[in-house]
Amino acid sequence: MAFATVSIAATANNEKRIETFPINSVRLADSQFLKNQQADIHYLLGLDADRLLAPYLKGAGLPAKADNYSNWENTGLDGHIGGHYVSALSYMVAATGNKEIAARLDYVLSELKRCQDARKDGYLGGVPEPDQIWGEIAKGTINANSFGLNNRWVPLYNIHKIYAGLRDAYVIAGRKQAKDMLVKLTDWMIQEVSQLTDDQIQQLLISEHGGLNETFADVAELTGDKKYLKLAHQFSDQRILQPLMKGEDKLTGMHANTQIPKIIGYKRIADMEGLSDWDRAVKFFWDVVVNKRSVSIGGNSEREHFNPTDNFTTLLASEQGPESCNTYNMLRLSKLLYQTTADKNYIDYYERALYNHILSTMNPVQGGFVYFTPMRAGHYRVYSQPQTSMWCCVGTGIENPARYGEMIYAHEGNDLIVNLFIPSTLTWNDMTLKQENQFPQQPSTDLTLTLKKSKTFALKIRKPAWCDNAKLVVNGSPVDYQLDNGYITIKRQWKSGDRIRVETPMHLTAITTPDGKPQYSFLYGPIVLAAKISTDQQDGLFADDSRGGHIANGPKLPQVQMPALIGNASDILSHLEPVKGQPITFALKGLTTPAYEGIHLVPFYQLYECRYQIYFPLYSQEEWSKKQEEIAAAEKANMLLEAATTDKVFCGEQQSESDHFFKSSNSWNGYDEGMHWRITRTSISYQMKAQGATTLRVKGFAGYERIVVSIDGKQLETIRLNQQGQAEIKLPTAYQNETATITLAAESGRQTPRIHEVRLCK
Ligand SMILES: [Zn+2]
Repeated sequence: MAFATVSIAATANNEKRIETFPINSVRLADSQFLKNQQADIHYLLGLDADRLLAPYLKGAGLPAKADNYSNWENTGLDGHIGGHYVSALSYMVAATGNKEIAARLDYVLSELKRCQDARKDGYLGGVPEPDQIWGEIAKGTINANSFGLNNRWVPLYNIHKIYAGLRDAYVIAGRKQAKDMLVKLTDWMIQEVSQLTDDQIQQLLISEHGGLNETFADVAELTGDKKYLKLAHQFSDQRILQPLMKGEDKLTGMHANTQIPKIIGYKRIADMEGLSDWDRAVKFFWDVVVNKRSVSIGGNSEREHFNPTDNFTTLLASEQGPESCNTYNMLRLSKLLYQTTADKNYIDYYERALYNHILSTMNPVQGGFVYFTPMRAGHYRVYSQPQTSMWCCVGTGIENPARYGEMIYAHEGNDLIVNLFIPSTLTWNDMTLKQENQFPQQPSTDLTLTLKKSKTFALKIRKPAWCDNAKLVVNGSPVDYQLDNGYITIKRQWKSGDRIRVETPMHLTAITTPDGKPQYSFLYGPIVLAAKISTDQQDGLFADDSRGGHIANGPKLPQVQMPALIGNASDILSHLEPVKGQPITFALKGLTTPAYEGIHLVPFYQLYECRYQIYFPLYSQEEWSKKQEEIAAAEKANMLLEAATTDKVFCGEQQSESDHFFKSSNSWNGYDEGMHWRITRTSISYQMKAQGATTLRVKGFAGYERIVVSIDGKQLETIRLNQQGQAEIKLPTAYQNETATITLAAESGRQTPRIHEVRLCK
């Protein structure tokens, strides 16, 4: 990515240099951010508090007023959304003052208090059968893997959400009883692990545990009691911390969002105790993830895990691209790092990830949230629904719109900082600052000050990394400015009614994936551009209750049919032509696919409920000619093959299978990469024209599983599909009968790979 490497050197002490404003001093004005915020209020109020509270009431031995929600809420992670819900309501009431949201928050808190009081041991949580699991752990029975603890689904991750919720209810929404509840719950944890050694606690931390170290550090700060800081240390996973302190990136293959919250915790502890080595580890992590492990939208991970830094090929092929939770947490980490360093690089990343990932993960009409944002060309995203989808990314998703205003402004002493160009009003003591613009459609922003009396201070406006020549106009006149640490800085005596305009011209840039392979994403200013491909076959677009319903499992389009660029890297931007009269819209030219020639690139965050493309491969004319020759050669070979074919079946295609008297007892079918397929756990069979056939060919998807092949009940061979997804069997003699029954079976206790085609040839 195009972010300057941040200084890894830790400051002597990690004192906060920059203060952000409480969320209730910022109100959003008309923009996509405000629209999403309003849609989120609707979503929050649409959730049934009693269903979210049910796991907590059960955990306290009280009768639940409603059934748990389903999906992740009644299969082990019971209560995790309830914790996020408290956070989201707290931020939302602070950000908007909405009375219904306030009432909902107070109701949820009073019910949670009732649960905690009923138990008498300070515990509060939705984890099923709490006495068993926490009893086992207290006694030192610990059997942890990354997704489980004593055969339960990440109970520490689950309980972290209610810790964070109570903290936010107190710190953000000012609900005083939440602080008492939080302290009691933390005292319970001290008791819970009191008989365990530090090593045993480290064993616990093998399983995903959110940012428990962060919340314990927060409790230490809120109470001034060092025993909570000790707990925060005990809950800091040393396996991750130690290599980072040595500047070693061992993240490849790790579950990404298990790690990011821990790093936030390290940072909190580092700041409170002035630990420069911990601080250095955190900066190293941020730098690696942002600059080597993130795609253009600011997100990371493939199938939830960090991919190798030198290979983004599988990420670009996957239907499970960057996960929303990861970026939610990267923004939180960026905020903490910015506050102690005043380094605007953290905000440059924040802006990129906020507009292009976080903002785009919400459906602006239906209000649903996205889990994975595939980078696969021509794929699509799935949206949550309030009554069915109870995933982690819904938990963080409902928080995001309430937090949009968090980083727009900041201050360094009396100096006022404008970091983001989101229409809004800031109230700070006896001053208000109103920001109005059509950003990013218009590359400028207008600031108006209202002051009780004139005041001298410096106004500092972030000069974004994507802008070469910013212009400053005060009360209609151009003004020279100083550039201080990347900020357009103007210090003077300000009076009420002063108007400041900042012009930040944007231009196009093209960036490759971090592995440097010639696959390009285009940006205009900070805005990632994407092409809308189609709205076809978006199976499961609005998620149902099914496990895995968060994954866009509809057909994957063949990548060779998706638009790619023909040309040279040096003039890559010549492929984009501005479309007159349409801001931030470009026609894409010089493509491999005539059907897509001139397709429009628009801001990705504006696209929803569609298949899209963000990354475009680049071929030189020579490479493309070669590729076309390969395609032509394959076509020729195919024609010869067709001429020699006595019969063929396309597995998983209804007509083709029924034409061949398909039989099966335990099989299922699907569609990927432009190919229908079928898998069986027992066997499938087809009746095929066979006279004169000498070879049997099977095509499908490469895999380790094997296929036992028989003809007319006589076993031929057990085959495995090669890397090209093919296998061939020579028949002992040319087949005499007119037809033959071909049976493909799984090995005992296994299943076959995805089989696409069975063919008999002369
Ligand atoms: Zn998630």
